Amino acid sequence: MGMQLPSSPLAWDNPFFQLGAPFFTELKPTPLPSPYWVSVNQALAKDLGWWQSEGTDDLALQVLTGNAQLPGMQPLASVYSGHQFGVWAGQLGDGRAILLGATASNPVLGPQEVQLKGSGPTPYSRRADGRAVLRSSIREYLASEAMHALGVPTSRALCITGSDAPVWRETLETAAVVTRLAPSFLRFGHFEHFAARGDVESLHRLLRFALSHYLPECASASGHMTSLEMEAPTKTALAAQQATELLQAVTQRTARLMAHWQAIGFCHGVMNTDNMSLLGLTLDYGPFQFLDAFVPDHICNHTDSQGRYAHDQQPRVAHWNLYRLARALMPLIQDPEHAQGALETFEPEFEATYWRLMRAKLGWQQPRVEDTKEGHAVDPPILQALLDLMATEGTDYPIFWRRLSGAVVEQQTAHPGLASPRLTALRDLFLDRPRFDAWWAQYQRLWSLAPPDGQAMLRTNPKFVLRNHLAEQAIQRAKNKDFSGVTELLHVLQTPFDEHPESETLADFPPEWAASIEISCSS
Ligand code: AMP
Ligand code: MG
Repeated sequence: MGMQLPSSPLAWDNPFFQLGAPFFTELKPTPLPSPYWVSVNQALAKDLGWWQSEGTDDLALQVLTGNAQLPGMQPLASVYSGHQFGVWAGQLGDGRAILLGATASNPVLGPQEVQLKGSGPTPYSRRADGRAVLRSSIREYLASEAMHALGVPTSRALCITGSDAPVWRETLETAAVVTRLAPSFLRFGHFEHFAARGDVESLHRLLRFALSHYLPECASASGHMTSLEMEAPTKTALAAQQATELLQAVTQRTARLMAHWQAIGFCHGVMNTDNMSLLGLTLDYGPFQFLDAFVPDHICNHTDSQGRYAHDQQPRVAHWNLYRLARALMPLIQDPEHAQGALETFEPEFEATYWRLMRAKLGWQQPRVEDTKEGHAVDPPILQALLDLMATEGTDYPIFWRRLSGAVVEQQTAHPGLASPRLTALRDLFLDRPRFDAWWAQYQRLWSLAPPDGQAMLRTNPKFVLRNHLAEQAIQRAKNKDFSGVTELLHVLQTPFDEHPESETLADFPPEWAASIEISCSS
């Protein structure tokens, strides 16, 4: 039983390969000795049609560790540049990731690029080792799948393989490889790279490539077919239009992604432009954190001493990053007003998505009549009052929303009234009870206008969240070759709205020691 990869060369088409030389270096992963499975994401393997009830899985183990390749794979590392912590960093690239190829489209997932992370040095490794350690691989793997289950656009993770090969970080650790999937791993930094070199021809090719493969919402996506035969002035005008459309599409996708992150309480930690997906996906999980206490300006990356990537800075930083993308596209867009127009769609898109998501957390699936009449006149005050209260008290963010959902269900069914057990449990989260009671009364008054849907809240506000300490506990066990903690976490995170009574402790408050966990860029 296990994973079986498609053996036909036709199964491994790789559109990115067609872009040619300036975009990547062809190379094979560097093998790792005696690999073993750490975890396989069966659900994703099944969606890919790669899960078999019979047969050996040794070839898949070797291929997904980088020790063998299948016919049709054209492994490569791509080159990009980027701004890191607000400063131009020059050339970067896939320093420890190798793209094996892309799977043919399938009904569930569409075509997906398959990339190994931690698969050995590449020409873009600079002085680093090209490896990833087991610890950070487990974090990326679980976070990807947790985000996906929460409906957040993200790269996916298919499996982790490990090896006892030593890898030095602050201490001696061991190597692992994550197989990750996304329709494309293109980043803002891919455009920045060619812009910085003044290579407008490559910039233009990348633009047409991205539009025709990955951004179907752009009306001019198919324009590249005809541009070859066009007169030069028309071609320039088309490129300007296409580049503006791409910028606007990426702006809106990124704005929606930020709304998701803020709503679920996710901190990315390293929002450098080389970690920003052109498709608006969450990419490159490093020192990320899902909030425990609601601390709006929480900094999850120990290396980020200035708080550039603090939780509440993320939308602003994303917009700043989009300005870097816009600048890279200027040789094509040409007219600054067009770029500005595209960038200005960020805020309305962010606001609309954020309020929709927060409204759903409060139990309202549809904008209410008052909203259409008075804009956001009703929801923001009730939400803002709540967020202020939670920020003052440092209320546990996931537990608050889950208990709120339970309390709403209870009020609407069995035990209305202030003494009911679930409402009591919710109220117990606060020290300032009168302030909570005032908020609750205000919230309840809105129910007469539109009753919240408690059952829908239980499918919106997860019971299980990948808190740092949960990842940490699974990692400690995995270091002793006990991978059952990873398996259990993956299971609850993939179905985070279910009760899973057997895993109740995974829904608890964080222990005191969780506050002392320090996650840095070292991975
Ligand atoms: P990050 O911000 O962690 O996504 O990484 C920034 C850049 O450093 C990217 O180009 C990575 O490919 C590269 N990088 C990070 N860690 C390693 C490593 N251990 N070996 C080689 N390159 C790395
Ligand atoms: Mg990165």
